[in-house]
Amino acid sequence: MSEFKKERTLVIIKPDGIQRTLIGEIIQRYERMGLKLVGLKMLIPSEKQVEEHYLLDPNWKKSVGEKAIEGYRKKGLTPPTEDPIEVGDTVVAALKKYMTSGPVVAMVWQGAHAVEIVRKVTGGTEPRSSDVGTIRGDYVLDSYQMADTDQRAVRNLIHASGSVEEAQNEIEHWFKSEELMDYRLVQEQILYDVNLDGILE
Ligand code: GDP
Ligand code: MG
Repeated sequence: MSEFKKERTLVIIKPDGIQRTLIGEIIQRYERMGLKLVGLKMLIPSEKQVEEHYLLDPNWKKSVGEKAIEGYRKKGLTPPTEDPIEVGDTVVAALKKYMTSGPVVAMVWQGAHAVEIVRKVTGGTEPRSSDVGTIRGDYVLDSYQMADTDQRAVRNLIHASGSVEEAQNEIEHWFKSEELMDYRLVQEQILYDVNLDGILE
């Protein structure tokens, strides 16, 4: 099978997803699209694990800080500081608190365009504005406004890798290679095979 059909992405059901008893619903959303679950575990992450996860991409902290500063300006508010790294640091600190507050479920999903497709069904970062029909849009109501006012992370149920490169680094960060399963699903024939011989009797 060509390599792009075996693309992998990391999904973490965050502590609020577990508390809202949405594990089954969330898994079903990815499973029913035809993606294959190749790794799964429940754990309580350490602060170090969470910090390292968000710093795997060296540019992420600055860009999340820039986005937050821009958000303050759009609302006519003055950002707490003009330094995106400093704002990024406060988001990282908030994420450490959020992500270590209880158990999470970490998963690896595999299939064609897995990274893109998982992001599409997960929805945009802010549940308030993420599309109807997406998991974040359908199951939760948090906003940048509430999170920033209360100086906490946006509670949006799920982490999903943002790019193929991010996915590779994140999967390595959360899973050992022997925890990932290589196996075939019967439905892969209808999803991927060129010829559909053998269906008719
Ligand atoms: P994601 O890829 O959609 O999860 O979004 P990002 O990678 O940009 O941010 C990671 C996580 O940080 C998000 O899922 C939110 O939980 C949190 N977060 C992102 N931006 C902000 C922000 O501006 N303010 C607050 N309070 N939290 C944020
Ligand atoms: Mg991200």
